[in-house]
Amino acid sequence: MLSEWRKSEYLFEESSRYIPGGVNSPVRAFKNVGGNPLFIIRGKGSKVYDADDREYIDYVASWGPLILGHAHPVVVKAINGAVKNGTSFGAPTENETVLARMITEMVPSIEKVRMVNSGTEATMSAIRLARGYTGRDHIIKFAGCYHGHADGLLVKTGSGAMTFGIPDSGGVPADCAKHTIVLPYNGTDAVKKCMEKIGQEVAAIIVEPIAGNMGLVLPEREFLPTLRELSTQYGVVLIFDEVISGFRVAPGGAQELYEISPDLTCLGKIIGGGMPVGAYGGRKEIMDKVSPLGPVYQAGTLSGNPVAVAAGIAVLGELKKPDTYVKLERKGKMLANALARAAKKNGITARVNQVGSLFSIFFGVKQVSNLDEVMRTHTEMYRKYFWEMLKRSVYLAPSPFETGFVSLAHTRKDLHRTIQAAEEVFSFLV
Ligand code: PLP
Repeated sequence: MLSEWRKSEYLFEESSRYIPGGVNSPVRAFKNVGGNPLFIIRGKGSKVYDADDREYIDYVASWGPLILGHAHPVVVKAINGAVKNGTSFGAPTENETVLARMITEMVPSIEKVRMVNSGTEATMSAIRLARGYTGRDHIIKFAGCYHGHADGLLVKTGSGAMTFGIPDSGGVPADCAKHTIVLPYNGTDAVKKCMEKIGQEVAAIIVEPIAGNMGLVLPEREFLPTLRELSTQYGVVLIFDEVISGFRVAPGGAQELYEISPDLTCLGKIIGGGMPVGAYGGRKEIMDKVSPLGPVYQAGTLSGNPVAVAAGIAVLGELKKPDTYVKLERKGKMLANALARAAKKNGITARVNQVGSLFSIFFGVKQVSNLDEVMRTHTEMYRKYFWEMLKRSVYLAPSPFETGFVSLAHTRKDLHRTIQAAEEVFSFLV
């Protein structure tokens, strides 16, 4: 660790004494890039400030939710206004309906929506609902897609095209994972074959319509339409996990961008603008199977929390303003194109993927469309790139397998400074 991060180093030593690994969520620990994490003391707009009082242009954005940037005045005002009236009642409030209505207006496939407290809860509940609705047990997920840390979803692919789940984490009984079938992302043929064989036993296909948890991997043209077609054919519930893509790439998320209507959608952190929030929703006929109307139990003391809901209403209100998504796309494209150009100019083989304000750079490969290809990237080169960018005050995801997030608060100056830093770093990276 360099001396300029001395306070973060000290804070990490202290946190490691009381918190496993010193962090409350593993990716924060910088294991994929080495070294110790920065401790952040505040954020404003596109910037975060660490314990050593250094300023960074932030592309982590709390792992996605901060499309408006840090401490956006409208969101802060909404939170302050709500908190004055109390933090939780365990009884319905009118604002929950306001937010639910806004979500259903922005994401037309969602006719009814249930608020939860995290993306993990959203996906876990959507899967239970799909199983309750269909009376089937199997689910299909795709290698490299992360859907939170519920037991049955912590499963990665084996070597075959169709692998029955082997748990990816200690503490997950094999029994919990045995109904999870993992197929390659963009593996249209593999899905067809699998469905021909056991389509009648599958409750749900869950997918990140834009994969954001192995770096950014985009769906190929036929992938999502095939999932839709086969789900309809076999009576399977198609679940889009839009915890990252929801409200990011269009008001209606990836489903609006690619014009595919899933049966259920999982939403997460973005709705709360940084407050702990998630939601799942979809067709009325399916959602009405949830307790108290139907037999599928799902509950939460803090679900629809008034402070989080107030933040959500404020965030969605801002996102609905004209040109939001044009601006986000412009910024994302400008950054991604410049990174690709700078890599090429310096003789670095790299693939830059981008859609809207999401972007990723993969070193050492020309094409990335599934987890196997992602695993061929030069992680050591990313590690160097990460630290050199950090020294130049650009805070990127501390892992080659995460997506970068541009916000509405990023200015042209921020983007130019980032590009300039990358050009400098690329000139000596090989
Ligand atoms: N689904 C996706 C696509 C995610 O990216 C994440 C988290 O990043 C989750 C689910 C889990 O969300 P949470 O961390 O809020 O539980």
